[in-house]
Amino acid sequence: MKKLQLHTKIIIGLILGALFGSFFSVNQNLLEITYNNVSEKTENWKEFSFLRKDSVIKTFYSDDQIAIIKYFKSVKDKKDLKLKLTLSDGSEKLIENPQSIDKVKTIGVMLKPLGDIFVRLLNMIAIPLVLASLIVGAASLTDLKHIAKIGGKTIGFYAMTAIIAITTGLICANLIQPGHIMDQSSKDRLLATYQDEAQSRIEQNIGLDVVSFLVNIVPRNPFKAIADGDFLQIVLFAILTGVFLVQIPREKSQPVIDFFDGLSQTMIVLVEKIMIIAPYAVFTLIAATVAEFGFKILHTLLWYSLTVILGLTILTFIEYPAFLKIFTKVKLKDFFRAQRQVIAVAFSTSSSAATLPVTMDVCEKRLGVPNKIASFVLPLGTTINMDGTALYQAVAAMFIAQVYGFDLTLTQQITIVLTASLAAIGTAPVPGIGLIMLIIVLRSIGVPEEGIALIIGVDRLLDMCRTVPNIIADSLACVVIASSDGELGEIRPDAEYEGAM
Ligand code: ASP
Repeated sequence: MKKLQLHTKIIIGLILGALFGSFFSVNQNLLEITYNNVSEKTENWKEFSFLRKDSVIKTFYSDDQIAIIKYFKSVKDKKDLKLKLTLSDGSEKLIENPQSIDKVKTIGVMLKPLGDIFVRLLNMIAIPLVLASLIVGAASLTDLKHIAKIGGKTIGFYAMTAIIAITTGLICANLIQPGHIMDQSSKDRLLATYQDEAQSRIEQNIGLDVVSFLVNIVPRNPFKAIADGDFLQIVLFAILTGVFLVQIPREKSQPVIDFFDGLSQTMIVLVEKIMIIAPYAVFTLIAATVAEFGFKILHTLLWYSLTVILGLTILTFIEYPAFLKIFTKVKLKDFFRAQRQVIAVAFSTSSSAATLPVTMDVCEKRLGVPNKIASFVLPLGTTINMDGTALYQAVAAMFIAQVYGFDLTLTQQITIVLTASLAAIGTAPVPGIGLIMLIIVLRSIGVPEEGIALIIGVDRLLDMCRTVPNIIADSLACVVIASSDGELGEIRPDAEYEGAM
């Protein structure tokens, strides 16, 4: 029998993971309550009340599983707490001194540690890879003029695609108007369920003042930037180091370049080995996401999710191909074929940083991008270029504004274009940060930031989707820039990893 290629195995892992996850999904109407050191499963409650000194302090209803768990966690003083449950058959149950309230985990979620190891391994590689490859990349662009030319083209291309992405998002949100389709009861329920989580995200947000944003890109201590995983600071340090390495005598710069080149190549070999477990890891990651979050919440936020997904689809499958056609001679089919495992890894990890090592390998081995361009354009793009995130932020801002009854003027929508571009640059290439940076966009147009509670429930699923164009745009930029310099090598969309089994 013909041996399956790695990307085929990953896609099989993805599909089987989704099926497995939906089969072993976490029951949304089941809770495990521990009291007096015994655990008991409770199913199908009609009403679920928290009591203190026999008076009701909060009541939840049948679909409020997450809200119940979160509320219990948020109650600081659990002494004298009682639970009163009215079950669907009308019977009542009183529980004293509850110790914990949790969902009942299924095998769909239990296998996730394998996926977590995979994501951690990729993240482990990302920072040394960004640092080393950018230093080598900048140093190999021989002179300052060349660096300025490639840097200018890269940033220009990234800015152009970001603006197009945001405009696409705004057009979709204006046409579909997802916020006007949502009914009041769904709005109230979502706001109540995710209120605390929204608050904690708002506290994490640092706000956006353009001047301090620029000042903060300069690291005081590059080693701290590395330790903290501050990608923008690492990028700046690496580019400056690379640029000025070529200004010192060759006998001094060469050992440094060789060192970082060796480091970057080792990271790439490592990723090829790590990818061996990708199919299994992807299976567990997707299974856990589907099992835990299910598709139920998608139903409530159907129009919003569809608007984001429609925008991302237009961006990825219509606009990017148009760029590919305008700026290069690369065949569309070859470009997407070459990216198969990049797309699968981005989708299942929701992290551009974790996907970067795979993207680099694919761009060099399959798309014929020379190392000096890939090692400069990709780490930079991973950090600053997030078209999918920018588009999502535009749709989310419009959606929240619509739900709250704000009619955004043209000026406010232009403000979204500007702030979403900056917010996307400031978004770290890891899961979930796009949502935190959305707060900046909301603030800039005067829409209540607590509104993020409306969309937290589907954020993980949409994060998976938006990370895909985030990284495809980086590969696209690589191919466009290499083509414009006449440096694009042979395209081998099916070239297999050496490490793949
Ligand atoms: N997960 C995204 C990425 O890594 C960032 C985000 O939008 O949250 O590209």
